[in-house]
Amino acid sequence: MTTPRLTISHLSKSFDGRQVVNDVSLSVMPGQVTCLLGPSGCGKSTTLRAVAGVERPDSGEIHVDGVMVCDQTTMIPPEDRSIGLMFQDFALFPHLDVAANVAFGLKGRKADMRGQVENLLKRVGMLRHIDRYPHELSGGEQQRVALARALAPKPKVMLMDEPFSGLDDRLRDDIRDETLEVLKDAGAAVLLVTHEPAEAMRMADEIALMRAGRIVQRGAPYNIYNTPVDLKAAQFFSDIN
Ligand code: ADP
Ligand code: MG
Repeated sequence: MTTPRLTISHLSKSFDGRQVVNDVSLSVMPGQVTCLLGPSGCGKSTTLRAVAGVERPDSGEIHVDGVMVCDQTTMIPPEDRSIGLMFQDFALFPHLDVAANVAFGLKGRKADMRGQVENLLKRVGMLRHIDRYPHELSGGEQQRVALARALAPKPKVMLMDEPFSGLDDRLRDDIRDETLEVLKDAGAAVLLVTHEPAEAMRMADEIALMRAGRIVQRGAPYNIYNTPVDLKAAQFFSDIN
């Protein structure tokens, strides 16, 4: 039996006495995409930030590739968690060209780097822009470079928080499909946060539907879509066709 790449067990977090993440448990298998889906403010980003290691939960445990990275007494720093990050506000470094941005994600000898950077950029279709600067790229192109940068250290788990929400509608479906292909190819376990049912339907192998800090339903996209747990869940999905 394959073991999950990412396991979140009984995660809880309060801010100022208000519980925003309430006993959240989920797991993601290698090569799978799990979408944490729910309305704005329901606790998705806080959950992701706890996995990333930038938020300390009040209770719960997190394992990455079988390694305990967080519990009551353990807090492994983000850079030692074997995770890749792609956040909406986690932009490229404006003063570095594309090659240097991607190289930032690599550890190792300088001499090997150019080849690795080229290979990563090829995978996201951005090799021809290797010498450009972020301001010379469109939003979609910047996201592709950000994906290459995030994949550079070969993370076991990829965390994505609304990575496409800054892009215009016309581009978004293409970028979603291309990103999915690159991620599947890389074999990472992906935890993708989104408030858009359509995005979750398109990208997820499994959806974890979240509301007011809790996961209220988990399952394959079409099962959740066809058999919503309650009226609220049905309404949440009702604006996609
Ligand atoms: P989502 O990503 O689902 O929109 P968040 O996890 O960002 O939700 O936030 C959940 C709730 O926690 C929100 O009400 C938000 O205002 C609150 N919150 C998030 N971070 C903090 C913080 N650092 N301090 C206080 N409240 C916070
Ligand atoms: Mg959020």
